[in-house]
Amino acid sequence: MKSVIFIAPPAAGKGTQSSNLVDLGYTHISTGDMLREEIAKESEIGLVVKDIISKGMLVSDEIVFELINNKLSNLDKPFILDGFPRTIKQAELLDNLLNKLDINNYEVIYLDINSEDAMKRALGRLTCNKCGASFNKYYEALQPIQEGICDNCGNTLVTRTDDNEESFKVRFNTFIENTEPIIEFYKSKNKLHNVDATMDSFDITNKIKDILKWLVLKVIEK
Ligand code: AMP
Repeated sequence: MKSVIFIAPPAAGKGTQSSNLVDLGYTHISTGDMLREEIAKESEIGLVVKDIISKGMLVSDEIVFELINNKLSNLDKPFILDGFPRTIKQAELLDNLLNKLDINNYEVIYLDINSEDAMKRALGRLTCNKCGASFNKYYEALQPIQEGICDNCGNTLVTRTDDNEESFKVRFNTFIENTEPIIEFYKSKNKLHNVDATMDSFDITNKIKDILKWLVLKVIEK
């Protein structure tokens, strides 16, 4: 099974798509989740990154790569990378690491969304700190059954500190400046697949599965 690397603007749905795919047997690696865990633990890293994240800026390449290096070097399953790489430097570090680990069986999915749609998603997003599930108050199909409560684990839903208009604008501009060049990097490696992220969440998942030839693999496995 192919591993997946998501490249996407903020609130394009990387986390939701990762949750929809993870049951296929993936390890989900989200740098955003890992950094938020560090903040919750009030660890040394957490204290360094707390303000950077709430302002919508990028954490240093060194800090995130250390987290990624530890995770990927100890994996025995295909992975979903959600939120890394976000700069050309990170893409190069990842490339070296994957070469060292002899991993080439992956595809890069670019979730394509315009800034207006992404902002609406960010401002309506409600997340569960316990199980990581994500809901949205502005989309009927994505609202939790009981207002403010996670459908999966019953925990209280919260709004992320960086899901406000000011921080969103910084994150979107950061994406254009730092992350868009990565698209060319993976295009030149023939790894890049563009997916329209304004579609319904499950249509997006099906499109991704199609790209990963999941259906074909399933038939072969039967
Ligand atoms: P996310 O949950 O992917 O939206 O990430 C939330 C925030 O964590 C980002 O806005 C950044 O501040 C930080 N972050 C996550 N991944 C990275 C990364 N690969 N490089 C730098 N900062 C990151």
